[in-house]
Amino acid sequence: MAENIRLGTVAGFRLGVHWSVLVILWLFTWSLASTLSDTAPGHSAPTYWIAGAVGATVLLASLLAHELTHAVVARRAGVPVSDVTLWLFGGVTRLGGEAQTAGTEFRIAVSGPVTSLALAGVFAAVAVVFRQLGVANIAVGVAWWLSGINVLLGLFNLLPGAPLDGGRVLSAYLWRRHGDKVRGQLGATRGGRIVGYALIALGLFEFMTASILSGVWTVFIGWFLLSAAQSEEHRIVTRQSLSGIRVVDAMTARPHTAPGSISVEDFIQSYVLGDRHSAYPVQGPGGAIVGLITLTQLRQVAPGERSTTLVRDAAMPIDQVVTAAPHETLTALLERLAPSRGSRALVMDRGQLVGIVTASDISRLIDVHTLEVPKGADRVL
Ligand SMILES: [Zn+2]
Repeated sequence: MAENIRLGTVAGFRLGVHWSVLVILWLFTWSLASTLSDTAPGHSAPTYWIAGAVGATVLLASLLAHELTHAVVARRAGVPVSDVTLWLFGGVTRLGGEAQTAGTEFRIAVSGPVTSLALAGVFAAVAVVFRQLGVANIAVGVAWWLSGINVLLGLFNLLPGAPLDGGRVLSAYLWRRHGDKVRGQLGATRGGRIVGYALIALGLFEFMTASILSGVWTVFIGWFLLSAAQSEEHRIVTRQSLSGIRVVDAMTARPHTAPGSISVEDFIQSYVLGDRHSAYPVQGPGGAIVGLITLTQLRQVAPGERSTTLVRDAAMPIDQVVTAAPHETLTALLERLAPSRGSRALVMDRGQLVGIVTASDISRLIDVHTLEVPKGADRVL
């Protein structure tokens, strides 16, 4: 959704509108105007068009209310909200993070459809009151139409497939039931694929038997849901695969080592200059690894003392260096790596140095695995 028009902020949320909103505005105006000319006869053609446009605009405001409820509930639960956008298929509330508990996920998801269903009740009540007061039948018709569309919106969004709200509800349910968030998310994307295929089949049936336009529209929505569910599944699986990566896959094998018995000055001249590495395991007498020296530690040796200080004295002693086993998971190592300890780990296998893992190795790996991954999950409609 690149062609977003920024509308400013509502309740502290950035609000954007995609140009495709004009398509739904026009479709709903046209659809309501033609419905009204059948159900509320006796008005001129322009009157139907005006009533249609008014109804479509109020409907857009209902969609916005649905999205803003998601956004408010998320913000209250401590999940940051990036922005709220209205577009062809309704609205998207983009979250800047994920819910921390199944209960939070459930509340954020269910709040939107609850708002739509509540609005349906309000519009139905308005229609009844209008009729009692003897207001023109066309206004009563608009109120009933708004009520009906909000019921549809609420129920449609509760279909149990991600990225629909009902998919998030399903995800929260599975998460709570199995105690596994990822399992819940994958179950919801599978639901999304099933809902997508079912809508495509329904649309094709409509296309052949009833209305061509509404059939095409249903197929289009089904296709959209299907591809959104597939890309969400891909995102989850990619993140999972990163958590399954082992230290051996991320490390630089056979790192250049530094002899501990030469001076810092000699080491800089004959090893560091012209080399691209920023950390070196230090070898003691007999070849055992006794420490780790980084460019930062080399810089801390005053220039006047470089020729008299030995590399092993400037290095971080091995008992302070983070070490890892090659087949340990990267996520387990990440929890031990702290910037205060050099953000590097030596990979040891049965007492032998086999590699080094640096912060740049890890961030490159994360970049590669998240190349096509949008941040956070979109919540659609
Ligand atoms: Zn929603």
